[in-house]
Amino acid sequence: MWTCPRCQRRFRTVKQWHSCEQISVAAFFWKHEQLLPVFEALLRKLRGLGEVEAEALPTSIHLGIRGGARFAGISLRKDHLRVGFQLERELPGAARIVQRGQLGRRTGYAVALRRTADVDAELLGWLREAHALKHRG
Ligand SMILES: [Zn+2]
Repeated sequence: MWTCPRCQRRFRTVKQWHSCEQISVAAFFWKHEQLLPVFEALLRKLRGLGEVEAEALPTSIHLGIRGGARFAGISLRKDHLRVGFQLERELPGAARIVQRGQLGRRTGYAVALRRTADVDAELLGWLREAHALKHRG
């Protein structure tokens, strides 16, 4: 483990690139308060994987399980939040998948979440898979 001398955060890789500017989750959502419950619902439902850590930076929130790798990222749009993650397979077309891109053998996806009901079994299944991939290395 490596500790950044500036922000005191710990990383698996020495001199891991990151932004030292961590902010609070509340600050991240201050202009989009209506989306905070959606984010909280997501955190609650991910708890089955372990203790979820949310690291908020000015433009995104990284999600990881304590002691493990980050496996998902959150960004904000005007009326929804986006969850980004990577899988090793092609997901069928779905309206909620607003972005996809090839990253070597993996495909990066962004899923739009507009309300707490969007945090459903399908999404949690994808995120569990993304988490498992990160831990397989
Ligand atoms: Zn730092």
